[in-house]
Amino acid sequence: MTSQLPSVQVEVNTPEQALKHYFGYDSFRPGQLQIVEAALQNQDGLVIMPTGGGKSLCYQLPALLKPGLTIVISPLIALMQDQVQALQDNGIGATFLNSTLNGLEVRQRGQQILSGQIKLLYVAPERLLTEQFLLFLDQVTAQIGIATVAIDEAHCVSEWGHDFRPEYRQLRSLRQRYPDVPVLALTATATARVQQDIMEQLGLQQPFVHIASFNRPNLHYEVRPKPKQPYRELLRLIQQTPGSGIIYCLSRKKVDEITQKLQADGVEALPYHAGLNDQVRQKNQTRFIRDDVRVMVATIAFGMGINKPDVRFVIHYDLPRNLEGYYQESGRAGRDGEPAKCLLLFSYGDIRTIEFLIDQKVDPLTSEPLEAEQQIARQQLRQVIDYAEGIECRRTIQLGYFGERFPGSCANCDNCLSPRAPQDWTIEAQKFLSCVARCQERFGMTYIIDVLRGSKEKRILANRHDQLSTHGIGKDHSAEDWRILGRSLIHQGLLDETTDGYSVLKLNPLSWEVLRKQRLVHIALPNRPTAARTVSTEAKANAEMLFEQLRKLRKQIADEQAVPPYVVFADSSLRLMSQLQPQTIDAFSEISGVGSHKLARYGPRFVEEIQAFCRAQ
Ligand code: ADP
Ligand code: ZN
Repeated sequence: MTSQLPSVQVEVNTPEQALKHYFGYDSFRPGQLQIVEAALQNQDGLVIMPTGGGKSLCYQLPALLKPGLTIVISPLIALMQDQVQALQDNGIGATFLNSTLNGLEVRQRGQQILSGQIKLLYVAPERLLTEQFLLFLDQVTAQIGIATVAIDEAHCVSEWGHDFRPEYRQLRSLRQRYPDVPVLALTATATARVQQDIMEQLGLQQPFVHIASFNRPNLHYEVRPKPKQPYRELLRLIQQTPGSGIIYCLSRKKVDEITQKLQADGVEALPYHAGLNDQVRQKNQTRFIRDDVRVMVATIAFGMGINKPDVRFVIHYDLPRNLEGYYQESGRAGRDGEPAKCLLLFSYGDIRTIEFLIDQKVDPLTSEPLEAEQQIARQQLRQVIDYAEGIECRRTIQLGYFGERFPGSCANCDNCLSPRAPQDWTIEAQKFLSCVARCQERFGMTYIIDVLRGSKEKRILANRHDQLSTHGIGKDHSAEDWRILGRSLIHQGLLDETTDGYSVLKLNPLSWEVLRKQRLVHIALPNRPTAARTVSTEAKANAEMLFEQLRKLRKQIADEQAVPPYVVFADSSLRLMSQLQPQTIDAFSEISGVGSHKLARYGPRFVEEIQAFCRAQ
């Protein structure tokens, strides 16, 4: 091997030095340094950061700089193992204790901890409170000390959260047993009520509170009308977008169907939904995380607690049921901070499907409709529609939902990049509403549009609606445009639609104002996707080629060690390597994400690969 490790020994005292030494990063993300400093001063803390914000570092770094053992409570075993793996890969003493280990393994790990080789111990909450484990912690306290208790996914302590776990409630007793040990609670929950609850339930004492913005600047948000043949569009999107992606569908059946079609079209895809058994789900998930397959087609059952930082796109093939869910699901893209796409395919047909599902919400015993639940679900659906139809910055709408004011002009959503000016559609609205009136307010949207567009369908002839003055006066617009107008009228309160299962259109006082020319109607038509852009393969830049080559090397190394590729290096590091093309170990060590341990472990192989690539060029 030609390469040499740099001989200078760096001192690791300050948080900045430790950041580069252990994690290979040059600078802190917003908030991280302040949180680390508060933790070093043994303050309690509450950290609220969106997914991908970099929460783990907030307790991992102090753990390395403080004497004693840091205990990390984490509810998900798979996640725990990933994190420990990633830490070990950075040369950090970390281990976990959970139900997957046998008695011998547990004792061995206990010894390692007591001998001071371990800085971070991950445990599941249910283990923590067993008598045996508490006795072990007493031993730890006596021999090496407990530095901090970090509680990940802290929203699990709150009944107001979306993932309440009773075991979390008992964590408070830890505080009582070890009153001097600072507690750091971390979560990505967005609601104020849950945040308050966490502080109370865990008994945090004058905590340092950091609430980050929920904005995820690296995500590109877009809503597109779902085309007539949505699958073809989906396939095209997947083929055009490199990297891993998740496709969310509303039903298991749809998941299976889309997966099969994608596989038949040569896309490496696997399904994930609650109808598959645990083993299959686990296997599919692992294959996705390890980059054995590129695409996961899933119901919303997929995603909670999966830690794949390099998901490059999330496509909602069907309408999500609520906006918080949409935020969390789409937020599984780009956790590594690199650009990623979130696309929602929006169709009015999907609204129907969800409305139907809402109507099905009945008490299983009495078959009475669960009215309160239905009402909440309808309101949530309304918010999703507002988001999809909205013409403001997508971030303003989403973040507003979480009570955060965002000024707009984000330059990374469809509405900001190609604004849609509202158009005056008053005349069309009058045509539409008078057609509803002439059909005696007895028909639904599709029928009215058919009449407007001059259909000679049997039903229309039978009702003699081909004789109406409004028959055929709407031929100048597509059925799709009329539908958008119709929805928009309902949405703006200028027209009513019955909700008893028949969806009949009814005029209301505001409809009459429009008909009497007392009110203007504006609507924003969606941007039609521009004609398919073809990606020319020959134009793939040099950096792109090297990136692909390094990705392969990364996958090979990851497979040798049976770990996910991102544990070896993040996409962002590979991207820097392919742009800067460092050909010496020294230059390689400058890459963000290359800490001392990874430099020694992987540096030579990557540098060789880059050298070979440059020679070949
Ligand atoms: P969270 O737990 O908040 O979802 P993670 O702790 O998993 O986020 O961090 C997300 C990603 O960001 C990880 O790949 C992590 O290594 C990376 N990261 C964290 N802090 C930094 C930093 N200061 N500089 C560069 N990357 C960082
Ligand atoms: Zn925007």
